[in-house]
Amino acid sequence: MISANYHTHTVRCKHAVGEEREYIEAAISEGFKILGFSDHTPQPYPEGFISGIRMDMTQLKDYTDTLVKLRDEYKDQIQILIGYEVEYTRKYFEPLLEELKKYPLDFIIQGQHYVEDEVEGFYVGSETDSEEKLKAYVDFTIEGMKTGLFTYLAHPDLINFTGADDIYYRHMKRLVEAAIVLNIPLEINIYGFVDRRWYPCDRFFKMAAGYNPRFVIGCDAHTPQIVRQPEHIEGFSEFLERNGITYGDNIIDIVKV
Ligand SMILES: [Zn+2]
Ligand SMILES: [Zn+2]
Repeated sequence: MISANYHTHTVRCKHAVGEEREYIEAAISEGFKILGFSDHTPQPYPEGFISGIRMDMTQLKDYTDTLVKLRDEYKDQIQILIGYEVEYTRKYFEPLLEELKKYPLDFIIQGQHYVEDEVEGFYVGSETDSEEKLKAYVDFTIEGMKTGLFTYLAHPDLINFTGADDIYYRHMKRLVEAAIVLNIPLEINIYGFVDRRWYPCDRFFKMAAGYNPRFVIGCDAHTPQIVRQPEHIEGFSEFLERNGITYGDNIIDIVKV
């Protein structure tokens, strides 16, 4: 049983369903004490570029207004935090932070879906056997981690590398080492697990557990039904066990925001 989930989306990202209230009530009934909303942040992309997987800049007010109201309404039952899942980019990160700071903001998590960004880069979830792309993902993700602004790294194993293990380990171990040095927890992603995606994967977590970084479990809820305790997810405890990951040992419950 974990106390907190920091990875929750809303319909504004165009690929999630349900009312905010349903996510909150699911969290309460599952026994969570803290529910962090971290919808895909909008990005100040060039005019004319519309992302299909995130809210627009103009929706920041509605997003935060809605959550502030609910935070108040539910304050005796659960602590609600207001955050975002943010892509680190070279071009848009600074101006984005300036915008986010104009509204209530408790935390941001890093979700590196693109390198270097959605406008000009590549999607890291596409299958690839390119060591160059793997290396670019790791280098760029570490660059983002070094900003010191992220509460944790979401789905560190989002890169869908289909090549040899030795190449995979050579680069991904650098990500783990950086997480330890920078004291950034690595997320074990429940949504990917339930949706039978390529992450969270044994190849990454077995290797990572050997270095003993801090892990955090994130629902990455795009539907209220995914706001679940990990032990209610079929096969998830076995996943942790076979990779040498244990509650209270290397899984942390509540992260500092
Ligand atoms: Zn999403
Ligand atoms: Zn997410």
